[in-house]
Amino acid sequence: MRKAILLLAGLSAVALLTLWLRDLGGIVEIRVGETWIGVSMPIAVGLIAAGFILLHGALRLIAWARALPARLKARRDERRRAEGDGAITRALVALGAGTAEAARAETRRARALLGDTPQTLLLAAQAERVAGREDAAASIFQSLVDHPQGRFLGLRGLLRQAMQREDWPEAKRLAREAEAAQPGAAWLREERRLLAERTQDWREALALCPPDGPRAALALAAAAQEEDAARAAELEKRAVAADAKFAPAAIAHAARLEAAGSHRRARGVLEAAWLAAPHPDIGAAWVASVAAPLARVKAVEDLTHRNANHPEARLLMARIALEAGLTGRARSELDALVGSGAADRRAYLLLATLEETEQGDTAEGRAAQTRWLREAAAATDAPRWRCDACGAEHGAWKPDCAACGATARINWSSPASLPALTQA
Ligand SMILES: [Zn+2]
Repeated sequence: MRKAILLLAGLSAVALLTLWLRDLGGIVEIRVGETWIGVSMPIAVGLIAAGFILLHGALRLIAWARALPARLKARRDERRRAEGDGAITRALVALGAGTAEAARAETRRARALLGDTPQTLLLAAQAERVAGREDAAASIFQSLVDHPQGRFLGLRGLLRQAMQREDWPEAKRLAREAEAAQPGAAWLREERRLLAERTQDWREALALCPPDGPRAALALAAAAQEEDAARAAELEKRAVAADAKFAPAAIAHAARLEAAGSHRRARGVLEAAWLAAPHPDIGAAWVASVAAPLARVKAVEDLTHRNANHPEARLLMARIALEAGLTGRARSELDALVGSGAADRRAYLLLATLEETEQGDTAEGRAAQTRWLREAAAATDAPRWRCDACGAEHGAWKPDCAACGATARINWSSPASLPALTQA
């Protein structure tokens, strides 16, 4: 609407100007030497306007002709880009469908159409890997490394290959390079953590462990690798702080304090760990330094007086009392434990030993022992160090499972807490 009004106004202005010029009259003279040309004023203005339009048209035509090759090239490039994008899409579909040869053909087409961009190179490497041609993939990843924008992607591909073929020194070198190319990349951090775990570099694994990761286990494992005693003690302290219920850390920390002559602090660490989560190994460490049988009973009382009804407290007391010949004390603990319904196989085996100690090799003694052994066979198995990844049992805590290679998955657990594995 606005355009129409403007056009109308323009046309009116031209018409008015023409009328005004006609009314004005007059002649425009051009004299060159002897030649004289006289043109009436409106025709002269018309000629000038026509000349201007012609000149403008000619200039536009020249500019158009000059830009023609560039325009044709842009159109060609556009077509190639569209075809290249199509090839990339088809390559992605082929990769998704796992049809390696189709993916390779499409990535070759994409590279021919679009050149070696990080995108086409990455796809080509991926297609080679799907086709099982690791060497070809590696050489493409290497081209990506040399590409200014693809360096990190290339290193990432090479790192994955190195980890897959378990070439740990090469993987570590590539991880360092990738870290330099893209500092702080989340994916790389995770990959470096896996690498540290696979190479049992526990200190590095601890440094890369997320806040909710198994920090206590990794700190304790790092402490065991540490040659410097002060640094090892520091790591053990961190392990205890990370998980107060993690008995191995408390036991290791207490042993180091004891060795350094800090007897009271060592006892404090064991006591705190026992209160957090009573564990037979803590009980064993607690009484290890006490030799006299009755003094051992007193030591167990000191340890367990704040949670004397806990099944582990009762078991510890029963065992130490039995060793000291206090069969009545042992029996009262074991009876209470069986009565509470929390008794496992260890309680029934201790009762069998108790009958033997009290009644000796008599008919009654043998009958009572047999009864408890039968109960023991039917009872829940004792808790053990078990890998929650594969269910394998371990005699002692370890940072990684020898059966399945999982890291920080060995936990203290009874079979009842592993329903999936008991069913299997
Ligand atoms: Zn395992």
